[in-house]
Amino acid sequence: MDLIAHVQTRLDALAAQGLTRRRRTAETPCAPRQTVDGRPMLAFCSNDYLGLAAHPQVVQALREGADLYGAGSGASHLVSGHSRAHALLEEALAAFEAPHLVEAQALYFCTGYMANLATLTALGALGANSSDAMIFSEALNHASLIDGARLARGGVSVYPHGDVAALEAQLRASPASTKIVVTDSVFSMDGDLAPLPALLRACERHGAWLVVDDAHGFGVLGENGRGALEHFDLRSPNLVYVGTLGKAAGVGGAFVAAHRSVIDLLVQRARPYIYTTAAPPALAHALLASLAIIQGEEGRARRAHLSTLIAQLSSELRLQRWQRPLSPTAIQPLIIGANDEAMQVAARLHEQGLWVPAIRPPTVAPGTARLRVTLSAAHTRQDVAQLAAALNQLELERTPA
Ligand SMILES: *Cc1c(COP(=O)(O)O)cnc(C)c1O
Repeated sequence: MDLIAHVQTRLDALAAQGLTRRRRTAETPCAPRQTVDGRPMLAFCSNDYLGLAAHPQVVQALREGADLYGAGSGASHLVSGHSRAHALLEEALAAFEAPHLVEAQALYFCTGYMANLATLTALGALGANSSDAMIFSEALNHASLIDGARLARGGVSVYPHGDVAALEAQLRASPASTKIVVTDSVFSMDGDLAPLPALLRACERHGAWLVVDDAHGFGVLGENGRGALEHFDLRSPNLVYVGTLGKAAGVGGAFVAAHRSVIDLLVQRARPYIYTTAAPPALAHALLASLAIIQGEEGRARRAHLSTLIAQLSSELRLQRWQRPLSPTAIQPLIIGANDEAMQVAARLHEQGLWVPAIRPPTVAPGTARLRVTLSAAHTRQDVAQLAAALNQLELERTPA
């Protein structure tokens, strides 16, 4: 068989299972009202939880950053690509997370995916040899954490979702000299929170690191938007915090915040940090503006509005058949069950100008295909009312009397 035919066979097999994925093309900035493939849509699918992706002050700072620093960084951080904008952002992020860490420092990465690979490979290499470090990974962790654990080449032990007792039994039984527990703080397909206080206590008892991936919490959770550690009021030298900056912060990239020794280890040893060109400094400059909004009165007001919308959606949905797991966050799943029904419902919403993604296995467990509604502070109460009414009506139509 020739090479291209081999590829096509694989693609045809995916298509036969109804698993082909396609991209829609947005023609306007990320916002609730977007033009997508030439059509105006009301979108409930971005992770722009605070509505900062197209915020005038953030966009203006990006322009200003380009004027100050140009378009590209030109090299990796350790060669010559580390700019003043990156340094200022790292200082600001370290100060922001400082209440929850000991001798906090922060390191900016191009993406959260790379920050997770870097953190797990660098900590995983602390064992005396490759079998001497063990990563304890929560069952519903994000793909980037799963890949980071694989790349770390030590042992990996998966513990059941939210099950601190099972984790603790694994920690107790493990002879590894370096133990690393890693978890999402907010689970990306269910919107629920990891039991971080109990996880941290278990880690402290067993001398383990706790790596918290707060992709969906940074900027949103906590009184000041510091994220999951603020929400749960945690502080520990065992904590390694990963915040991403392309979601609530509205721009792109990510950071790791931890004790300065951990950050120095990443700078010295983490290949996903060392062997890549530094992100454009203008992004870091824009992120300083975004961080100022998150920390200030406006951030507080945006978080309060988002909470109102989350409560409104809960109170206006009247679903009989589709399951709604309790989610206190902006991620609001509606579990429909069958793949084809989830796809059909998403298509019907789309016909009405509502953009809500359907999520199928293998991203979620078989039989739990769902709509993944995400809310943003940029939505209005009318937007949420329109979505709730459409969902109520669709479920009613599709339920046999
Ligand atoms: C989005 C996400 C990431 C990856 O972050 P990027 O900056 O988009 O690469 C990592 N972890 C979780 C839980 C995420 O949701």
